[in-house]
Amino acid sequence: MSVSWPCETNHVNRETALIYIIGSGLSGVAAAAALVKRGFRPTILDAGVRAGPHSIALKSRLASAEPDAWTPEDLAQLKRTGPAASTGIPQKLLFGSNFAYRDVDRATSARFRRASILRSFAHGGFSNVWGAVIQPWPQAEFRCWPIGFQELAKHYSSVRELICPSGLSVRSSMQTHALHSDLERHQRQLDAEGVRFDYATLAVRTSDDDIGKACRHCGLCLYGCPYDSIFSAASQLSRMVRQGQVAYISDVLVDRISILSHGVRVEARSSKDNAPLTFNARTAFLAAGLLETVRIILNSGNFPPTPLCVQQSDIFTIPLLRYRSIPNISRERLHTLCQMIVEINDAAICADSVQLQLYGYNDLYSRILASRLGRLSYPLQPLIREVSERLVVAFGYLHSNVSSRVSVTRTRDGRLHVQGDVSHETKSIGHAIVRKLFRIRNCFRAAPIPLQLRFDDPGGGHRSGGCFPMKAVPAGLEADRWGRIRSLPGIHVVDSSVLPSLPAAPLAFTVMANAHRIASGCPIDNDD
Ligand SMILES: Cc1cc2nc3c(=O)[nH]c(=O)nc-3n(C[C@H](O)[C@H](O)[C@H](O)COP(=O)(O)OP(=O)(O)OC[C@H]3O[C@@H](n4cnc5c(N)ncnc54)[C@H](O)[C@@H]3O)c2cc1C
Repeated sequence: MSVSWPCETNHVNRETALIYIIGSGLSGVAAAAALVKRGFRPTILDAGVRAGPHSIALKSRLASAEPDAWTPEDLAQLKRTGPAASTGIPQKLLFGSNFAYRDVDRATSARFRRASILRSFAHGGFSNVWGAVIQPWPQAEFRCWPIGFQELAKHYSSVRELICPSGLSVRSSMQTHALHSDLERHQRQLDAEGVRFDYATLAVRTSDDDIGKACRHCGLCLYGCPYDSIFSAASQLSRMVRQGQVAYISDVLVDRISILSHGVRVEARSSKDNAPLTFNARTAFLAAGLLETVRIILNSGNFPPTPLCVQQSDIFTIPLLRYRSIPNISRERLHTLCQMIVEINDAAICADSVQLQLYGYNDLYSRILASRLGRLSYPLQPLIREVSERLVVAFGYLHSNVSSRVSVTRTRDGRLHVQGDVSHETKSIGHAIVRKLFRIRNCFRAAPIPLQLRFDDPGGGHRSGGCFPMKAVPAGLEADRWGRIRSLPGIHVVDSSVLPSLPAAPLAFTVMANAHRIASGCPIDNDD
């Protein structure tokens, strides 16, 4: 067990022991930031898996120089990707390491049927590999929340300050500017078609500051940002620990939390040798990511084995081929995160808005095309280059209302069973969106490639939550506005597990704002 604060497991310094946060991902650090503002010094308990020495050394070599000085050997090492999903898109690694996805507790791994939801045990969770797209949710989404949009608005602002310190947006590529201009020229037709578009908002540092360097537009976003310009919970946490604002204990696997008369007892194991560990606290904030939060909550009470409903956003991908390429695009200094968001509101296709996240030119496209063509790729190099320079890939997301049903049940051996029931509606919506994109292709000056429409498994879009939805009048395993389940007072669930529904929009910004809201305002005994 490694501790970034002078405290022992069972005899912890009182100041730090009062409040535990379980998990160091985006929801955990958002809750921590709010608690620190309130005058507390929370302790984060975390599995805390980190990249291996090879990846750490690679990152520090790259971080110590400007992009022009990077060596081809280091770049070749960096550009490793993981296995491809059903959409054909390879898993994003960080400096060649898959540590963000590494399952260090096989004994409790969930079993899946027609669904795929990942859990992260990493220091910083999935924020190590996330795409950093942020967007507040539409006001209408809060109709089924126990709080209104206005109550969350100030927490959106606090989180934005935390994750976008420079305020300004990162510069989009020339290809994206050209696409945006093409869409603007057809604004009236697109309005009539219910199509809205905008540049993506990204949690990326855009000016050098005391904390780090700004984005250098080096085009490596899909492999790892050497300067941590892409916001990550891991670097935020390290800063908070350095400044003495929070304590951090890693190599801890929490299994359950029991309720005491004056607080809670967190029951855990060491991830190194399974030795039992306990931590007594005034209150605990649970930010372990959907599957682990569900496992810990279901272990913590005597609940009937009824399946819990997962709210999740189905995902599909569709490549679009621009009519023209941008000269010298492969040499342009650009970022390769999401470039643009397109929203389609067409009641004939879907009662809820469908969102497309557009990814423009990046060097992965030619690698994916070449691997699909196998031996033919060598003579077809010029064609591969031409196609990849014109390609824009749209990641389509659906509202949880119309997405596939997914349920999770705790089985007798304490593991979770995750069952997906693939929605036919998802397929028909995906196909209808492609037909629509084809019909309005001249507005985009890009044609979709219908044969390349791909659907991922339910849960594959990394947008899942809602097992303990917050309600004004909660019942059973529903949570109240402070993320508390009635039979488990003293535990505040602050990750996506408490979201009442998921629109077709990025999730993490809202999860962070909600975690920040709960930790800012929830009653804490002897609050002083
Ligand atoms: C490739 C990829 C791209 C993404 N892109 C975007 C995007 O652009 N925009 C967006 O909004 N979302 C995106 N997401 C989703 C987003 O990253 C997640 O919603 C978000 O990171 C979840 O944060 P979290 O803190 O709730 O949980 P996690 O990131 O899952 O973190 C869980 C934390 O809990 C700890 N933990 C887990 N179990 C235990 C245990 N039993 N005991 C102790 N500690 C434990 C882990 O160590 C970790 O620190 C993406 C996800 C992926 C994988």
